[in-house]
Amino acid sequence: MEMEKLVALCKRRGFLFQSSEIYGGLQGFWDYGPLGVELKRNVREAWWHDMVTSQNELEVPEGAPSTFEMTGLDCTIIMHPQVWKCSGHYDLFHDYMIDCRETKSRYRYDQVQGRWAEAKGQRIFVATGFVGDEALEHTQQKALKFFKLRAKQADRLEWDGPLVSLTTIDDFSNVLGPDTKKLGTLTAPREFNLMFKTIVGALGSEDDTAYLRPETAQGIFVNFKNVLDSTRVRLPLGIAQIGKSFRNEITPRNFTFRSREFEQMEIEFFCHPDQSADWYKYWRDRRYKWYLDLGLAADKLILREHTPEELAHYSLGTADIEYAFPFMAEGEFGELEGVSHRGDFDLRSHIEGKLVREGDELVVEKNEKGKPKHRGSGKDLAYFDDLTKQRYVPHVIEPSAGADRATLAFLCEAYTEDEVPDDKGKLSSRVYMKFHPRLAPIKAAVFPLVKKDGMPEVAKEIYGAIKPHFAAFYDEKGAVGRRYRRQDEIGTPFCITVDGQTLEDGTVTFRDRDTLEQWRVKKEDCVEELRKRLMV
Ligand code: ATP
Repeated sequence: MEMEKLVALCKRRGFLFQSSEIYGGLQGFWDYGPLGVELKRNVREAWWHDMVTSQNELEVPEGAPSTFEMTGLDCTIIMHPQVWKCSGHYDLFHDYMIDCRETKSRYRYDQVQGRWAEAKGQRIFVATGFVGDEALEHTQQKALKFFKLRAKQADRLEWDGPLVSLTTIDDFSNVLGPDTKKLGTLTAPREFNLMFKTIVGALGSEDDTAYLRPETAQGIFVNFKNVLDSTRVRLPLGIAQIGKSFRNEITPRNFTFRSREFEQMEIEFFCHPDQSADWYKYWRDRRYKWYLDLGLAADKLILREHTPEELAHYSLGTADIEYAFPFMAEGEFGELEGVSHRGDFDLRSHIEGKLVREGDELVVEKNEKGKPKHRGSGKDLAYFDDLTKQRYVPHVIEPSAGADRATLAFLCEAYTEDEVPDDKGKLSSRVYMKFHPRLAPIKAAVFPLVKKDGMPEVAKEIYGAIKPHFAAFYDEKGAVGRRYRRQDEIGTPFCITVDGQTLEDGTVTFRDRDTLEQWRVKKEDCVEELRKRLMV
């Protein structure tokens, strides 16, 4: 599937718009239109239902080490600045950027690739911001231009090795930047903190600087004690939160995949250190299965365990759930969710202060005066188990998902083209969104076959009966075939048509979006039929 087709459909049918589009848009910000908002709500609600409200703490779910509890939280976006100092975000949450002195373009260091080319006795590194085949094509064009060769002289170019990251290059003097014609225009990489700054209060001095949260997780850690003290929950316990996060990404791109404002769905799962390895495996596998159950294809979804070199210094294990988005190069995958075994790093940071690794230990980082660099809250965030009489700082497993990335993956997966017979039985191409019924923005559309003979009245009655239960759509305009296609294109699983036979025997036609199968149902049973079919 070409991404352009999906992007066009999303705009045309009101799934996604560029933010502030009438002013030319703002890079990295996206708005959800009337159908997009329903789709994303369904993603969030499926997650909240499956992870939080449906969790039965009296039974051991399949594959889980024991019973456990789940509860939720909704924290503020702006928190005390010390939260981000102790969590490490203030010092460490950065990417490296490079600038082009010539074009003034800015790039994320690790996203620039290139390959070595030699011609006319000169060897240069040709850089590009593209990936996969597009990167090969772009570097070829750039090298030909640089060496003043024509396309048919391409064999005079010698390529030395495959595409590699710019991070493998030490000396930039022979690098041809992604958008320039000159060598050596790229600056050395510099750190760029991704947190958005803001000022709290009317005085507005630097001391009042606060940050828009770059993740929802910290709100859960700092409320851990409040949750324990105010409810009768016991460990193992998961606390879930869905909410906006903000990252000033250097190069937002690939539709909503990398945005500057996005929504996360995060769980912090607190457990006894002796059991944390088992819980890590449980959550990793359970979260992977969640995406499969909602329709992502198994051959496009991978669970990738991080290598020891990739792990953050505090992490005892991390696995990414990754999807083969259509904008990725062949064989490459993009992160949908990270599931991480974080040990006791987070709670200890908020007790003691920002931690750093010293050998096998995590210790409080000191400043030049030998005092904690970023002081913790000093509050006791340990858990006391009144059954075993044990007191301990729990370990944490963190499944951290992006609501927008998940929504984008479901949109990509749903986009389908096929050929079906039209009104006259002639094959014609159709585009339909094969959403899982739980995610479809509209569950059923109701049509009178024609706008006469009492059909609209019956159709409106059915529509009125469905509306309190399911998102539905009423349409009496145009040929019925066209109405079907319009619903297919927004992924409505079922169309219900009131036709001549309805007036005779009180049944209506149900039509399935994917199989086009049609069957008859008594008009008063429509809600029940939908309930049965949508609960797959
Ligand atoms: P990436 O490496 O792609 O920048 P990350 O590893 O920094 O992602 P996490 O910090 O683990 O991401 O965040 C958890 C989840 O939040 C990600 O798996 C993703 O679904 C979502 N997410 C993170 N950054 C963005 C973003 N800029 N736009 C949309 N979603 C995001």
